Amino acid sequence: MREGGLEAPTRHPLDWRNPAFYDADALDDELRRVFDICHTCRRCFNLCDSFPRLFVLFDESDSGELDSVDSLGFKPVIDACTLCDMCYMTKCPYVPPHEFNIDFPNLMLRYRAVEHRVGKTGWAQAQLARTDRNGHADRRLPRPGQAGGDRHRPRRIRPYDGHGARRPRSPGRRFRVAISNQLKAER
Ligand code: SF4
Ligand code: SF4
Repeated sequence: MREGGLEAPTRHPLDWRNPAFYDADALDDELRRVFDICHTCRRCFNLCDSFPRLFVLFDESDSGELDSVDSLGFKPVIDACTLCDMCYMTKCPYVPPHEFNIDFPNLMLRYRAVEHRVGKTGWAQAQLARTDRNGHADRRLPRPGQAGGDRHRPRRIRPYDGHGARRPRSPGRRFRVAISNQLKAER
């Protein structure tokens, strides 16, 4: 077995059109396989909040090994992943073409896709995920001090008043803040 490598990783596309992709048992098997490898490796301990949560899950289990880890504890690990791709792109020596075939971020995406299919996505998260619609809507909303939205119109720069006055919030900004607050409430 080759241990790691300096070549660029090979990213396999998500097989999201395959019904097996959404199979909860198959997903759980894959989570347990990957998490067990990560638990013995621990190289990504300081990259984000996902890995510390995962390692605490193992360390606080009865045997300290996979056999006593309950899959019900996986959700906080997955929720903490921001999909930054750092573990895959810079840290993991077991990414494809290594036979361990670890793609941690893609596995997090798969979990979220399965959650979404069974209706477990919160309202705010579902709204945030509609990036095309949100981008178009925000572009059309008027900026403060403008009569109407127009992406070709330059934004008016307000002079600094010397007192740290906050810039009035645009409708788009208010919408994003409302979504963000809802997201926090759903956590
Ligand atoms: S992709 Fe997710 S798990 Fe990997 S480093 Fe980024 S936040 Fe952490
Ligand atoms: S993603 Fe790779 S490098 Fe990071 S802890 Fe898991 S096996 Fe180790």
